[in-house]
Amino acid sequence: MKAIQVSKVGGPEVIELVDVPTLKPKPNEAVVQIKAAGVNFIDVYYREGRYPAPLPFILGQEGAGVVSTIGSEVSNVKPGDRVAYTGVLGSYADSAAVPADRLVQIPETLDFNQAAAAMLQGMTAHYLSHSTFPIKPGQTVLIHAAAGGVGMLLVQMAKKLGARVIGTAGSGEKAKLARDAGADELIIYTTQDFEKETLRLTDDKGVDVVYDGVGKTTFEKDLKVLSPRGYLVLFGGASGAVPPFDLMLLTKNGSLFVTRPSLPHYIATRAELEQRSRDVLQMIVSGDLKLRIHKAYPLSQAQEAHRDLEGRNTSGKLLLIP
Ligand code: NDP
Repeated sequence: MKAIQVSKVGGPEVIELVDVPTLKPKPNEAVVQIKAAGVNFIDVYYREGRYPAPLPFILGQEGAGVVSTIGSEVSNVKPGDRVAYTGVLGSYADSAAVPADRLVQIPETLDFNQAAAAMLQGMTAHYLSHSTFPIKPGQTVLIHAAAGGVGMLLVQMAKKLGARVIGTAGSGEKAKLARDAGADELIIYTTQDFEKETLRLTDDKGVDVVYDGVGKTTFEKDLKVLSPRGYLVLFGGASGAVPPFDLMLLTKNGSLFVTRPSLPHYIATRAELEQRSRDVLQMIVSGDLKLRIHKAYPLSQAQEAHRDLEGRNTSGKLLLIP
């Protein structure tokens, strides 16, 4: 079968399309014939070695497809089931072996592209807005990279929860997409000072929470745009990792809270995975959550997909189609 393999870490050029042996499931696994794999920023961290994995490895953390074979202990899925998953390396491939307790059924009315687009970024937007900092009506939230994959979904969920949403985006075109997704105010943070603008838009009060997946370039100012006892939810580092910092800065800027959450801890149990994925998939079925597929690339164009994502050329979801 074909797979996208990384045998040394580095830039997009280390991505290789290779032939690998056909998979056999372990007793607790199901082999899923992948129909669509999600491309996520975490794949860049793995490729670069920022998140270490034993080499060589097959990239990709998110997929949707059809169960082809199951291991001897598997009872929750059967061959032919339409399933989706996230959090297991190896989805950039024709097939992937996945622990069966990580698979969820795809609702009848959703296609594979929608399911693959929903799992990682959708459940991330869900846990950030419903669990890490559960948004209450009337609160003001700042969402960085609001036209990104997670960003656009988070904007929609924050609006549904009754927040006033201020978004940042890298260009006017992206700002428009984030506004169309529901953001009330947009700051083009590549040309405007988001600290100054956020304070202006909140009459110097600041925001209740900042959701930041950009990291290095935004973190310092995040601390200055929060209201006292506000929450900084740092969930990624698209611009680079945030360096160590002095905890006294939290005191100085108003007894702030900082958390650095990660999806696996919010879908760790089968019960939480089922509840969260059901919520997200149902939002899509009902039309409450709109997915924007930026582009579906053939598997062989995984390098190009990574270049586009890292180059800030995308808005919404990128998929690879084996
Ligand atoms: P996006 O589609 O949001 O792409 C990243 C965006 O970040 C870009 O489009 C760009 O938007 C912005 N950005 C700002 N500075 C840079 C830079 N220097 N280089 C590249 N991009 C930059 O990606 P995802 O939705 O996949 O992920 C968004 C963030 O969420 C990532 O940090 C990712 O790691 C994190 N994440 C964390 C999870 C968790 O559980 N902790 C789970 C899922 C994702 P613009 O041009 O508008 O600035």
